[in-house]
Amino acid sequence: MTERPLLQMAAPRPGKAPLHFADMDDAQRADAVTGLGLPAFRAKQLATHYFSHLTTDPEDMTDLPAAGRDAVATALFPPLMTEVRSFAADGGETVKSLWALHDGVKVESVLMKYPERATLCVTSQAGCGMACPFCATGQMGLTRNLSAAEIIEQVRLAAKASRDGILGEQVRLSNVVFMGMGEPLANYRAVIGAVKALVAPAPRGFGLSARHVTVSTVGLVTGIDRLAGEGIPVTLAVSLHAPDDELRDDLVPINTRWKVGEALDAAKRYFDATGRRVSIEYALIRDINDHGWRADLLGEKLAARGTGWVHVNPIPLNPTPGSKWTASDPAVEKEFVRRLRAHGIPTTIRDTRGSDIDGACGQLAIEDQRRETGPSVRLRDQGPGIGDTAIQTRPAKEI
Ligand code: SAH
Repeated sequence: MTERPLLQMAAPRPGKAPLHFADMDDAQRADAVTGLGLPAFRAKQLATHYFSHLTTDPEDMTDLPAAGRDAVATALFPPLMTEVRSFAADGGETVKSLWALHDGVKVESVLMKYPERATLCVTSQAGCGMACPFCATGQMGLTRNLSAAEIIEQVRLAAKASRDGILGEQVRLSNVVFMGMGEPLANYRAVIGAVKALVAPAPRGFGLSARHVTVSTVGLVTGIDRLAGEGIPVTLAVSLHAPDDELRDDLVPINTRWKVGEALDAAKRYFDATGRRVSIEYALIRDINDHGWRADLLGEKLAARGTGWVHVNPIPLNPTPGSKWTASDPAVEKEFVRRLRAHGIPTTIRDTRGSDIDGACGQLAIEDQRRETGPSVRLRDQGPGIGDTAIQTRPAKEI
């Protein structure tokens, strides 16, 4: 990797999304509603439509006076995202969707069905400024931050699609992971706004359990400490990928600012503040970070900070297009896990859902910014319902 994107902490252009009902707190919602000439209690009805019925369509809001419905919807629910298309994989249990935001910027989200739950992987930034060389989004650079409502809309639309059977049967969306495009803690304000809407009980939010919401970070220490102080015990994941600074400086460039030890100390403080066991993410890259001695070093560093506070999720690298790196050998992966466990660290290999539609971890990148890969199943294409599922025999064309 000679030409690598540089670390970018600030988004280069504002491109701010229009203010949306989902961006507002209770007082702002009441103000907005009275500003439209309606009594304040209507705000609660709107919240119920949005967070519980998952709708922004004035036709559905039959408890509002017919005369003002359209005006209310236009003012408070400006369209923030349009589905460009969706792809299915894993026998229909994984669906990746590509969305166009109000300014044409495109982002992706991935919905996954598991036996006991449905999980949505959300995007918090268009692109990413963290420049990790093995990550597809990291190669794009940062375009802009998403607003809270742009994140919340991904969740509403996925919850609705899931409820309506896009995963093959009707499923309630139960888990949200901030493992899509972007570094969530570099867009703190919008992300915490979205997290609050995820966990607030109906009608003020989707009522998800905080433990079922995971915020994944490269290890922005100030952001981790700030999150720990919110009193919302979401699960924290730290993308470590190397236990030593020499290698991590390359794999996760923010390590030049906060070292492995500082990231792990912050992760431990997060556990102490919330009681929530922290996940350490570790993409196993063949002959790069998968050595036995690195497993031992990681085990030692984690065990030195206490027991029961952390677990490790190794994941085989999903090679990104053009990458010279590949996933570790299965035997090497097994040995890595064995060594971590020998240090008393609970360790589970994470699955790589949707890799055939580039929906797997670290593979979210806008298709027109890179060459196409293999065939995939196209679910929807600007409009037709999922009944129109068609097998794509050639790579999908960009619209
Ligand atoms: N910026 C955040 C969240 C987005 S990435 C973070 O870094 O945590 C979500 C996870 O996918 C991170 O653990 C990231 O390191 C990992 N990842 C990125 N590229 C990957 C790849 N090619 N193979 C496997 N995991 C990858």
